[in-house]
This record gives sequence, structure tokens and C-alpha cells, in this order.
Amino acid sequence: MMDITRLESELSQLPLYFYGFIDPKSLEFSERIRYICSAECPMYNKTWACPPAVGEVAACEHKCKAFSNCLLIGTITEVADIADIDAALATRPEHESITNQVRGFFRAQGIEPYILSTEACAECARCAWLDGEPCRHPDRMHPCVESHGINLIPTLEENGLEFQYGENIVTWYSLLFF
Ligand code: SF4
Repeated sequence: MMDITRLESELSQLPLYFYGFIDPKSLEFSERIRYICSAECPMYNKTWACPPAVGEVAACEHKCKAFSNCLLIGTITEVADIADIDAALATRPEHESITNQVRGFFRAQGIEPYILSTEACAECARCAWLDGEPCRHPDRMHPCVESHGINLIPTLEENGLEFQYGENIVTWYSLLFF
């Protein structure tokens, strides 16, 4: 059983813009989001963390909704120019590092969360998926929120959050199911 008070005390030490607990059943899953992966994302079919490797949206929804709780965390970073995609993406490793620190808080309590974070997995220079081999680091690999067909915007709105905080602010979110 998770000690939420201990977890919240630890979360308060991190540079998080937001954290909150949500009911996994409140998440919106949509085939439209999956369509965007297949139609627009260059990483589609390139890693174990992306569709189609993560499974059908219905299976992803079933998996996520089987958990009783979910921690939503968010970070925001200001950049000089949001149009500079490289600079915006350079803020991602810090968010992933924070996500992994939060994972450590769960593990310290003997709980392995199921994590969805940002973008495609970048753990290996070449993903084993491309060679038809199993993932080399399933304990480190996080699919992204969108890979599971989750439209996070309604959840953010319910929590008074935005997906995009205007010019030159980069926003990242992760979900940790437990
Ligand atoms: S850990 Fe490596 S093999 Fe596994 S999904 Fe990430 S890049 Fe692919």
C-alpha cells in the first residue's frame, strides 16, 4: 500500500510545476490520437515505446484503467524561442530525469508504477524493435502518453492546467499508474 503522505513529501522536493492524483477511469482514450501518431509522427513503428508495438488503443485503455490510481506530474521550462525546436526538445531530458526520480520514490516503497511520459524512447541508439528483438531495458522504457491514445487535454482542464502556457514555455507531463 502506497504511503501517499511520504510520496507527497518527496514530490515537494522536486522542481515540479504540478502534481496531482487522478482516477485512471477519467482519462479519455481516442483513436484520433493514434491516427496522429501513424500519420504525423516520424517515430511511428520505430520503437517499442510507440505504436504499433504498444498495442491497440483498446488494449492500452484496458491496461491503464485496471490501475486504481494515477499520479500526473508536470514540468514547465522557459526557452528563448519556442520556434527553436532543438532548444525546446533539449528541455525533455530534465523532465524524463524527474520522472525517473519519481519512479524511484515508488520503487522505494516496493511499488513498480506503469509510466507514460514524453516522446519516443531514446534509451538506445537503435531500438531493438527495428531488429525484431525484445526491448533491452523494459525497466527504463516509458511509452509516451499519446502512444496509448490518451487525449490529455480534458484531464489537464479538469486540473486547471494547460497543454501550452503561451510563448516560449515548454510543458511536459507524465502519468504514473499504480
Ligand atoms: S530501451 Fe532501447 S530497445 Fe527498449 S524501447 Fe527504448 S530504445 Fe527500444
